[in-house]
Amino acid sequence: MAKVFKFGGASVKNAAAIKNVTNIISSRNETELLLVVSAMGKVTNALEKVVDTYFTDKKASLVLLTEIHSQHKISLKELTLNEGILDAFFDNVSTFIKNDQESNFDLVYDQIVSLGELASNLILAEYLKQQNISASWLDARKIIKTDETYREGKLNWKLTEEKVQSEVLPLLKNQIVVTQGFIGSNETGNTTTLGREGSDYSASIFAYCTNAELVAIWKDVPGILTGDPKLFENLVKIDRLTYKEAVEMSYYGAKVIHPKTIKPLQNKQIPLYVKSFTKPEADGTLISGEITINYPPVIVVAENQAMLHIATKDFSFVAEDHLSKIFQLFAKHRIKVNVMRNTAISFSVCVQDETERITNFMEELGTEFKIIKDEGLELITIRHYHQSVINELVKGKIVVLEERIRKTIQLVVKDVPTIRRKNS
Ligand code: ASP
Ligand code: MG
Repeated sequence: MAKVFKFGGASVKNAAAIKNVTNIISSRNETELLLVVSAMGKVTNALEKVVDTYFTDKKASLVLLTEIHSQHKISLKELTLNEGILDAFFDNVSTFIKNDQESNFDLVYDQIVSLGELASNLILAEYLKQQNISASWLDARKIIKTDETYREGKLNWKLTEEKVQSEVLPLLKNQIVVTQGFIGSNETGNTTTLGREGSDYSASIFAYCTNAELVAIWKDVPGILTGDPKLFENLVKIDRLTYKEAVEMSYYGAKVIHPKTIKPLQNKQIPLYVKSFTKPEADGTLISGEITINYPPVIVVAENQAMLHIATKDFSFVAEDHLSKIFQLFAKHRIKVNVMRNTAISFSVCVQDETERITNFMEELGTEFKIIKDEGLELITIRHYHQSVINELVKGKIVVLEERIRKTIQLVVKDVPTIRRKNS
């Protein structure tokens, strides 16, 4: 049975990191191993800048692209690999930038940003071969088939499963297969992507379709922690989580695992390990089926939130028919609702502040409703909460909305404005 390992951007950020990944792989001596790998370090962010400049200044975008190519060449040189191996990928994108008149932002985005994964993977595959590990590079766009939605491709499960069965399984029989996370292609033959941080989801798709024994996601943290280490101290590692708990955490905005990752694994009861690539021997976190676990309080902070207060113009109740209309528009504008509350004549929701989408939503709904937007908020969700943790987290904040449901409390908060006495 196959195993799927996913290595994120931080684990392949430079030559030393790629050597570390190679050590992890060679020390494990796996026979049927599929590696799903992200773009190196912050390359995806850099490619997003290439996309932005594509629309304003094509020359500048080509300069940025060349810089990214040079960065990759530094790693190739340090790994004593042929510096020309990525030329074809970079040439494709620069030709696209030079020739194309495309005005669909999302389409352009996917054609350019996918370069990051193609490049990092080829480097790793070639380095594995140089180290006498039998490996082959697989273009994930031949396997992962999506619909036409650029930047958020919806998977065509049936077609993808057929491709995995006919093309991936035979390859896995006698070598390690290195492929890309995050990217696929649609019927037109164009590249699509699955959404930022989508490589975890790719790993899960491959695991589902190969009926894998397990998935391991290798990260720069020891496992899943009780909060984001960038925001909090004194966190503890959670040794075991159920699929359900992991889904809850990622739904509320925990960035440890991409939200779409768990469902395919749960459906086939494939265990998911989250492990540290700096301490590969340590246990990490195991996510699997139902068992009874006494969880410590788990904190998830979602930044950049806004509250929308929606009221009828004629003082009538916000009733079911209104709500159904409002929710149709949320879906249409792809706005994710994180918390909601209704009173007699108003309905309030906390949403991710994607300004453009919200402005369009407000314009469309504004013909019938009064809407007030409150910005600059943070949504704190605590699962398995204790009052002491709540008290600590709301210190110095104004709580705009509080909701408790069973084991979960959600607090929409803003910073207390600092008022200083004038020198008189
Ligand atoms: N490279 C992509 C990103 O940074 C996909 C991923 O890493 O999962 O969003
Ligand atoms: Mg990443």
